[in-house]
Amino acid sequence: MSRSETLFASAQKHIPGGVNSPVRAFRSVGGTPLFIKHAEGAYIVDEDDKRYVDYVGSWGPMILGHSHPDVLDAVRRQLDHGLSYGAPTAMETEMAELVCSMVPSMDMVRMVSSGTEATMSAIRLARGYTGRDTIIKFEGCYHGHSDSLLVKAGSGALTFGVPSSPGVPAAFAQHTLTLPYNDIAAVRESLSRVGKDIACIIVEPVAGNMNCVPPVPGFLEGLREVCDEHGVVLIFDEVMTGFRVSLGGAQAYYGVTPDLSTFGKIVGGGMPVGAFGGKQHIMECISPLGPVYQAGTLSGNPLAMAAGLTTLKLISRPGFHDELTSYTSRMLQGLQDRADAAGVPFVTTQAGGMFGLYFSGADNILTFEDVMASDAERFARFFHSMLEQGVYFAPSAFEAGFASIAHGDTELQLTLDAAERAFASL
Ligand code: PMP
Repeated sequence: MSRSETLFASAQKHIPGGVNSPVRAFRSVGGTPLFIKHAEGAYIVDEDDKRYVDYVGSWGPMILGHSHPDVLDAVRRQLDHGLSYGAPTAMETEMAELVCSMVPSMDMVRMVSSGTEATMSAIRLARGYTGRDTIIKFEGCYHGHSDSLLVKAGSGALTFGVPSSPGVPAAFAQHTLTLPYNDIAAVRESLSRVGKDIACIIVEPVAGNMNCVPPVPGFLEGLREVCDEHGVVLIFDEVMTGFRVSLGGAQAYYGVTPDLSTFGKIVGGGMPVGAFGGKQHIMECISPLGPVYQAGTLSGNPLAMAAGLTTLKLISRPGFHDELTSYTSRMLQGLQDRADAAGVPFVTTQAGGMFGLYFSGADNILTFEDVMASDAERFARFFHSMLEQGVYFAPSAFEAGFASIAHGDTELQLTLDAAERAFASL
């Protein structure tokens, strides 16, 4: 028995499913989750001392690679000054200034402790600001696990086939309308009927929780247009795309400016952080300036700000995102070439440093149906072959993958050599 197997068996006694977040359990690919004891650069090391090239990156935050020395130093320096004060710090202002300077739509920002809190708070704000209750989201998009958002959701909810969770009162769910992703005609049609009741449209500008589905040209632009027509707040959930697809997120990459945006992952540099913000006149509705309540004991936590600020500064250097994007493109092209050579129907998607892998004969992946039509069972076999050979992709066919700046030629070769054998074995 491996140490991961032993640890997983013990974990299940007191932790539901042995994990503190469902997709970690490997349910959709089968087998035992790796228990990790160390991570550095492009690699994670499990409890059995096996090293893996990591394409999960803690589900997105580790854009610099693991254990970047400057990030660790910043956290160590802060450690000498205390863990949490529940009072303002200079670092929080620096963080707000930095985020607002990087992201086009941001006049003001508030820090929270997770992506879920960020989206939940942004939606409350949109509802408070508009005085409307109903929200629109898209099928297969995941915005965290708050009640209004677990309706036809992606990520673990999709992986486990319960996209609409028990425990969400019907009275909440009825205020969430779900439309097909990348279908602007459906949005126009819906808003022409119920536009005056809609507080906000929340969208992942690149859908990263049903694998990875970039927006078709015109989709995000169309959302901006219809939101303006109907007085609806447009929220880009950039928890995954923020600071990754470009320094200014998907909104800078695609040139569409939302009213509010939500962040997580990279903004905390691996610490528990989220953020939401946007136009000043909307953000001023938040307490203590306005009546929409929102708060957090650990919000703006100094250790988390130290890690996040250092990460944001390091990724601001010229050429950072081009390098990240180029690694990702070369890796995907390499996979495609090897799949083609092995005669395996395979297609990839990419937005900057995030990507999707599909066992599918489709030319492109544009919709939720395209994703669902891909072969998840074949993905699971590919996943295990790669894992066996020391390459760790996301343990689900419904999650995006992430490269880091620490991934270089060595990791590329390792990945592609492993993939050649994996495709041949399918
Ligand atoms: N929004 C998006 C787009 C996400 O990908 C996630 C998590 N993967 C969340 C929100 C929720 O963030 P968290 O897990 O930090 O609560």
